[in-house]
Amino acid sequence: MVAILDTTLREGEQTPGVCFPSHAKLAIAEALDALGVDYIEAGHPVVSAEIADAVRVLATRGYNAAVVAHARANLDDVQIALDCRVQFIGIFYCVTDERLRDVLKTGLSGAIDRVVKAIAWVKAQDPDVIVRFTPEDTLRSTFENVVTVAVQAARAGADIISIADTAGSAVPGTSSNLYDYVRDLRAALHRHKVAPQLAVHCHNDRGMALANALDAYRAGVDIIDATVMGLGERAGIVDLAQLLAVLAADFGEGQRHLEHLPRIYRMVSEFSNRPIPGNAPIVGANAFTHRAGRKVRNTDTSVATSTGAAATVDPAEFHSLDPALFGRRNALVLDHMAGPSSLRDCLERADLDTIYAPAILDQIRDLGRQGRVVTPDHLEHIVKWYETSAESSCVARNGLRVACDFEVQVGPDRAVFGQATSISKFGISLSLDAELHCGSLVSLVIVSGSDRYGVRGRVVWMSSSNGVREYGVHFVFASPAERVSISNHMGRLLRAT
Ligand SMILES: [Zn+2]
Repeated sequence: MVAILDTTLREGEQTPGVCFPSHAKLAIAEALDALGVDYIEAGHPVVSAEIADAVRVLATRGYNAAVVAHARANLDDVQIALDCRVQFIGIFYCVTDERLRDVLKTGLSGAIDRVVKAIAWVKAQDPDVIVRFTPEDTLRSTFENVVTVAVQAARAGADIISIADTAGSAVPGTSSNLYDYVRDLRAALHRHKVAPQLAVHCHNDRGMALANALDAYRAGVDIIDATVMGLGERAGIVDLAQLLAVLAADFGEGQRHLEHLPRIYRMVSEFSNRPIPGNAPIVGANAFTHRAGRKVRNTDTSVATSTGAAATVDPAEFHSLDPALFGRRNALVLDHMAGPSSLRDCLERADLDTIYAPAILDQIRDLGRQGRVVTPDHLEHIVKWYETSAESSCVARNGLRVACDFEVQVGPDRAVFGQATSISKFGISLSLDAELHCGSLVSLVIVSGSDRYGVRGRVVWMSSSNGVREYGVHFVFASPAERVSISNHMGRLLRAT
């Protein structure tokens, strides 16, 4: 199984504006440990006393994950890291001739000297501490220099050589790809009779960080660096959730507790003051959300487009990852594209039943036009409002609720009213040939078996949609045998045009 090094607390703090307080570092580290990452890079202790403090606290918590401190290739840095009692020290140094000469005023032999001394110092103090050496900007450095310094680092005791795509320049399938790099570096090191583990640290400047990490994985790399939300310098690095999802779902590396991911992301989002994009894979609000009424089979598309009435199919048909793997569930939401059928589907899924569906559908479409969606929870609140407000009126009228599964005859004044076009428990549609105004009285006769119910309604609202005026009515149902009332039944009356 490939090992995962989470560096949210170190690389993540390279994100402009991100600075985790110590209590946040503790909370994040504990959550990462519960998730099952193998290494937690906690910070560069020499940078500040606060960082050193946090690194020391995390290093002594007894996590399953080894806690990592970052250090430059000098004895002060590595000693402070050792003093923090970390289990793993990552040492980095430049191996590029020009930069060594022009900036660091040394040469490759000077670089080797520093790197070897720092590694040997750590191993002399505590041979159990894991040491990683990273040639800075490995991918763009001269390969021979990387090999030369890496061989000496391994001989001095480095357990891991990390390949840093610092500038995010690798692209799978090109001459600069991590699949070849991992294999070439391993082969070169083997020729020098050293066999350290190899790690990759992929920046996301081209949006290729995950692709490059998987390229390295295919080449057998031992450790992959990642951060929560892909935080890091510039465009950041590999996103932890995406990496773990692919490793688990597509490569059988599913031995971690991925159900912790949503909680970790919420935590890091809060502490970093950065929102999780709604469309973020795995952890985004929309990652497993389906829009009811839109996901329809091809044969139903024309129906869905014209009426919004096509049936919603099983959301599982439209995703390739099981949300349960990440402690999540499918969600169906409704918006301006909702139709009677998709609303009915959502109501059934939420175990809700209501006779106010037409009015609720109008409200959902209005919300959708405002750029909002109605979640199952939201839908439940809407239904409850309609039911509650209707019941309060019914009680006042000593009424019973009746579902409108009746035939309808329009009357008594046929001269005024047209015909009922449809009736169901989801409402009544009427075609009228009279001008109606808010407050107009309408009346119907409902036939149910041998009983005849006189029905009166009052127009309570009007709106205009697609050039057709729409009327809602407030019906009062009355039977000769008993007074039956329904209040706030929002049927729809379409004016004849
Ligand atoms: Zn980095």
